[in-house]
Amino acid sequence: MPLPVGHSLAGLGLLQLTGLRFFQHRWQDAFFFVFAANLADLDYLPGFLLGNPNLYHQGMSHSLAAALFFGVFCALFFSRKHGGNFTAYATICALVYASHMLLDVFNNDLRAPYGVPLFWPLTEERFISPHWLFASVHKSSESAQFFQSVLSAHNFFVALREVVVMAPVLAVAMLLAKKRRRAGA
Ligand SMILES: [Zn+2]
Repeated sequence: MPLPVGHSLAGLGLLQLTGLRFFQHRWQDAFFFVFAANLADLDYLPGFLLGNPNLYHQGMSHSLAAALFFGVFCALFFSRKHGGNFTAYATICALVYASHMLLDVFNNDLRAPYGVPLFWPLTEERFISPHWLFASVHKSSESAQFFQSVLSAHNFFVALREVVVMAPVLAVAMLLAKKRRRAGA
């Protein structure tokens, strides 16, 4: 898994590409996109409570089915709130959630099970790119040491690499958004 740094930048990039409104303020939209891009990693929680955060990590929450479910769930809420645009809301919300798996596929995964079960529940097969963009995060398998282990010098450089990889993606998305606003003005 990349750190929340990489996932959050991917979420913010996708926010630039949509003209849809979600909440009253743009910062709330940004918070929602960052949350959605990191949501799949909430699967650390049950294992964390049982003493091993990695126990259920990269399971069914890391599937396209979960992204689709999230997209439809959000679209029901936002299309009712703003009137219409169900498909547009479902698509962008599913895409933000799915961006998480895209980044995870390009992670240097050093811990079994390797990769993500993209097509769960149709198949348990896991997918991972042979070429990685994001370095492996060092993290403890014990809940008591988990947060301490994540805050390491190694992971600082992992985060820096994620910024180097994802910042240009965000910059391109911002440029495209600017172009679209100009064209619409
Ligand atoms: Zn993940």
